[in-house]
Amino acid sequence: MTLLSKDQITASGAICEVNERKCVSCGACIAACKYGAVEFYNTPEGRRARAVPVLCKGDGLCNRRCPTGAIQLKHFTDEELLSQIDVAFPAEKVLQPAKASV
Ligand code: SF4
Ligand code: SF4
Repeated sequence: MTLLSKDQITASGAICEVNERKCVSCGACIAACKYGAVEFYNTPEGRRARAVPVLCKGDGLCNRRCPTGAIQLKHFTDEELLSQIDVAFPAEKVLQPAKASV
């Protein structure tokens, strides 16, 4: 009801989504979320988590707690972040540790 009483709602640019196939219904994301932005729902395969986009603030707390990597920030998945790191720090430009002289 609070949401409906406002003229405008500002949502985070980064919000979570759950890969239903990876979710094991442990509830860790729900416990971690301070905004009540994750909830369970029933599927033919059992209970799964899902994010409520309008409530999600994109802080990523749930991502760190998920044991299977099922819940991720859209556009900031682990793979996407690792790719950005690879581009920013290509292996050929990373200084290797000097070998110890004997
Ligand atoms: S990113 Fe933050 S606000 Fe969004 S669902 Fe996860 S814990 Fe909740
Ligand atoms: S923490 Fe991960 S596996 Fe557990 S309920 Fe949330 S999305 Fe599913």
